[in-house]
Amino acid sequence: MKFNIGRSLLFVCLFALGCSLKAGSVYLCFDDGPTSNTPTLVKNLKNAGATATFFIWGNRIAGNTASFNAIKNAGFSIQNHSYTHSHMLTWTYTQVYNDLKQCQDAIKNAGGGTPKYFRPPYLETNSTIKSACAALGLTIVMPSVDTKDWNGATTAQIISACNNLQSGGNTLMHDGYSTTDAAISSIVTNLKNRGLATAKY
Ligand code: ZN
Repeated sequence: MKFNIGRSLLFVCLFALGCSLKAGSVYLCFDDGPTSNTPTLVKNLKNAGATATFFIWGNRIAGNTASFNAIKNAGFSIQNHSYTHSHMLTWTYTQVYNDLKQCQDAIKNAGGGTPKYFRPPYLETNSTIKSACAALGLTIVMPSVDTKDWNGATTAQIISACNNLQSGGNTLMHDGYSTTDAAISSIVTNLKNRGLATAKY
């Protein structure tokens, strides 16, 4: 009997230890800002206790300075999503390089640091785009979970998609949809319940 109690206690302790260990981290990523939506999204992320990465358009910074600063002041990661968000598959190396470099410079000049990561517009990549990224020290980040928020997914569908995130994975979400904004709290709660924390690039 004494042995069984001891063994039971051991199992309880191991169970508690297992529950307290993090299963890992995921990267909540938001493309296409800064926009007029950014302050709402940033606020919801902060309220949920999450961190995040924003892949932004370089040419949207000047007209959305307050939104850019909201991302920066929240301590979230600001990364490169190109300057003009163009289809680049037919572009020359110089065209691609100059566009990406222009985004690097715009982010840096606005106080966002020098990006190390690049999300290709429309998720389109080829050897030319990869070469330009390498020259600029940019690592390409393709999403592991597409929430389809860009294609009319409901808040419930966005939340559900994020239940497929595994440790080390990242989302395709956007800065600009109220459906996405409304999903943040539940997404972060569900991740916590699965032992997953949020990380940023
Ligand atoms: Zn985009």
